[in-house]
Amino acid sequence: MKVGFIGLGVMGGPMAANVLKGGHELTVYDLNPAAVARLTALGAKAASTLREVGQASEVLVTMLPEPQHVEGAVLGEQGAAAAMAPGSTVIDMSTIDPATSQRIGAALKVRGIAMVDSPVGKTSEHAVTGTLTLMIGGEAADIERVRPVLDCMGNQVFLCGGQGMGHAMKMTNNLLATTIMCANTEALAIGAKCGLTLETMVEVMKTTMGWNQQLAVALPKKAFLGDDSPGFMVKLAAKDVRLAVAAARQQGFEPLVGNGALATLDRAAQLGRADRDTAALLFLREEELGIRVRPATVSA
Ligand code: NAD
Repeated sequence: MKVGFIGLGVMGGPMAANVLKGGHELTVYDLNPAAVARLTALGAKAASTLREVGQASEVLVTMLPEPQHVEGAVLGEQGAAAAMAPGSTVIDMSTIDPATSQRIGAALKVRGIAMVDSPVGKTSEHAVTGTLTLMIGGEAADIERVRPVLDCMGNQVFLCGGQGMGHAMKMTNNLLATTIMCANTEALAIGAKCGLTLETMVEVMKTTMGWNQQLAVALPKKAFLGDDSPGFMVKLAAKDVRLAVAAARQQGFEPLVGNGALATLDRAAQLGRADRDTAALLFLREEELGIRVRPATVSA
């Protein structure tokens, strides 16, 4: 298929590369020339405007940081949709809120353009290997038509409902995953401050209800190795929780746990960690409390 791809960052870059590997004709656009160059080196065509990538696309994928970026790139005055043919499809794979997703979908529908939302789960490593979790919302026929493109990027596919429900699922998931990460770093810091070693805490927690995937998989791969290179950046985690907190309030309830996670992430961003991996939450606590959670064998 003729595929356009807007947003070639930590996630979008390798995802676009996998679309290319899947045999599709790929045109790419990003504000960062270095990100574009990485894809053209693999055989993609570079578009110099959003209109140009829209015109070149039967299927246009967006993988951008925030809701306003997606809305602007697709529907803005200079946006891609104006140049897309009726019958074409936009797939938004960014993490945005379901209300914005549905507003974009409705505006595209008026132009005869379909919208499928397919935000992704797992990590940048899975983006590279094409093994992301895909949380899909949309009409069955639209999803079926773009499956050859989606299948290049993910191997665990969940149909979540109508258009916007993929984004609802992702927002819900990330509220949970991110609050667990914040809780982990806080609990480990308290334990270390009391004098416990990481080894003791992990061995005990493995046997209790405190055990979780962040502690089992994410922290050992990054934070416990002294690595806070992105990864999943603090600013993106804060954005996800902010979207969920706003959605909860719109639904008429106060998300008390989400508020705590958001305060934790916003504080880390204010203290200069916005562009670091969420592993930085642990390092910040270590610095502030004058403790060491990481094993002594890790020097970074
Ligand atoms: P990123 O910041 O690495 O990449 C974003 C890319 O978009 C950058 O290359 C940037 O130059 C480009 N960009 C920004 N605004 C643009 C615009 N208006 N027009 C064109 N290009 C623009 O972010 P990422 O980590 O790749 O995340 C992208 C999305 O995926 C976010 O919504 C994020 O929440 C979500 N996500 C990230 C992860 C992760 O582990 N990093 C996992 C799942 C989902």
